[in-house]
Amino acid sequence: MKVFHCPGHGGESHGCEYNGIVEKDWVLTFAQYLSDKLAPTCEQYMGRTGDYKESYKLRASVAAEIGVDLVIMHHINAITGADGLPIERIDGLMTFYKPGDVIGQEVARVMGRCAPESMQQKKPHYATSPHNWTKRADNCLSAYRAHRIPVVLVEYGFATSPNDAEFLQDDSNWVSLFATVAAGVGRATELLRA
Ligand SMILES: [Zn+2]
Repeated sequence: MKVFHCPGHGGESHGCEYNGIVEKDWVLTFAQYLSDKLAPTCEQYMGRTGDYKESYKLRASVAAEIGVDLVIMHHINAITGADGLPIERIDGLMTFYKPGDVIGQEVARVMGRCAPESMQQKKPHYATSPHNWTKRADNCLSAYRAHRIPVVLVEYGFATSPNDAEFLQDDSNWVSLFATVAAGVGRATELLRA
């Protein structure tokens, strides 16, 4: 199983910054942590290994050239209201996939279901939110559209939610986030063997 980690942003693209979290730094550190934990079962590659800018398109072509089985795009979400202030009550882990990507869709479903208890999507605000989550995720996923590689994009909660931010900053919680990702990777492995 070859897994390609694509930590979001880098360099001048910081991603979201709230409650002490800087997205580009958190996702890189977390992707490196995952890479260590998955090492016994997966061959892994990193789309970014430091704090620099590297387009998702270029990362996608590297992943395609290697011939990886699964790409995991690592991100943290954020939401602000019309007044520009964070909406603190919106929280939870979300996963996305490319249209028509059957394996990516299944991996996204499994990861969503295996999210840590405090990050499960229980609240109806996802359906009613004026934000078009899928469209935003598509902006990132589109870099991988030219390639037939299963891709899952994971938003590890919302930096704008004090609950999520606290959870993400306590690395003793990372083992439960690892379990979320490992469940998805395990499912992808099953599907690719079938
Ligand atoms: Zn991001």
